[in-house]
Amino acid sequence: MAKVNDNYLKLPGSYLFSTIGKKVKDFSEKNPDKEIIRLGIGDVTQPLAPAVIDALHKAVDEMGNADSFMGYAPDLGYSFLREVISEKDFKARGCDIEADEIFVSDGAKSDCGNIQEIFGLDNRIAVCDPVYPVYVDSNVMAGRTGEYDPQLERFKDVIYMKCTKENGFTPDIPSEVPDLIYLCFPNNPTGAVMKKEQLQEWVDYANKHDSVILYDAAYESYISEADVPHSIYECEGARDCAIEFRSFSKTAGFTGLRLGYTVIPKSLKTGGVDLWPLWARRHGTKYNGAPYIVQRAGEAVYSAEGRKQVEEQIAYYMQNAKIISEGLKDAGFEAYGGVNAPYIWMKTPDNMTSWEFFDYLLEKGNVVGTPGSGFGPSGEHYFRLTAFGSRENTERAIERIKTL
Ligand code: PLP
Repeated sequence: MAKVNDNYLKLPGSYLFSTIGKKVKDFSEKNPDKEIIRLGIGDVTQPLAPAVIDALHKAVDEMGNADSFMGYAPDLGYSFLREVISEKDFKARGCDIEADEIFVSDGAKSDCGNIQEIFGLDNRIAVCDPVYPVYVDSNVMAGRTGEYDPQLERFKDVIYMKCTKENGFTPDIPSEVPDLIYLCFPNNPTGAVMKKEQLQEWVDYANKHDSVILYDAAYESYISEADVPHSIYECEGARDCAIEFRSFSKTAGFTGLRLGYTVIPKSLKTGGVDLWPLWARRHGTKYNGAPYIVQRAGEAVYSAEGRKQVEEQIAYYMQNAKIISEGLKDAGFEAYGGVNAPYIWMKTPDNMTSWEFFDYLLEKGNVVGTPGSGFGPSGEHYFRLTAFGSRENTERAIERIKTL
């Protein structure tokens, strides 16, 4: 008899965004005359930059020609892309990351979820609370988290590092030493960032305890403040304790194309074992790589023209973030984030739970956001709005929220 992996049964029945989708669908069916504005799901809305489209067309033509056709991509990704990433994302910022330490993939979600496979099941994981749910979910599926306690809304063996307004939504060093530390900055959902000195403390801590930091920098390109690191490798000693994830999704609108990468420095060891060969083996076996044409599109993001075009898109979204953040504050709400990230993290009014506020906002304002509790127990009484909508919808949504 085939048996299921019963770790999957520990997961809550439905994924956060499926529950939201169902509630919105039910509401629209009952209220066909109401026009709903979505500021909930973290997906981009601007079309791909012209430089990216040109690169895609060119690469498609190459694939149709016997002299330039490309088959399977190399395991780590094409060197034309890895070289430019190493130069522009790292060396230009003083980070010593070589092209062969970069593994190109089909996005950060796969990598953040899959990376745990190279670590033993007896590792203790720590996550920011609240945070992007993939880190906990993938460790639950692997069997590293213990049972779920519905009262506490926590998995027994996970160290939840509270990120609250008291600590500026950045975690304090936990009392119990974790083996694997997931950090996500700029943070989804709070929009918070860590300053360089703060991140350096984590790097020193991880090196002292032989822990590994799994650093998700998917929103790095939204950083606007000069003292906020774009990469963990800006910290001294990070090559010896950290893996970093990057994505082209929010940087250049690749959510539908799929492109990301993971950095594993060759100097990174744990318990005396090199991690680079483990991920190279895993990546080579289960390659979730990106097609040639998509890697060429990614390369175009680094051209002068491509860079300028994606920076304009980011500026557009960040102007939306400003409209949301200022609008909420004018209306008397407590709001955080939106300065170095496309997310605004608001406190729910009148101590409403985050799902109560979700329903209230949907019914009274016909605006959809994301309940904070979906990102972890400390997200309760908070609510996430995203800056990825059109300008018009963003402005209209804020007008509606102001008149609630
Ligand atoms: N990491 C974080 C923190 C995210 O919020 C997201 C997407 O929302 C991802 C990774 C996924 O990125 P990708 O589209 O590259 O899979």
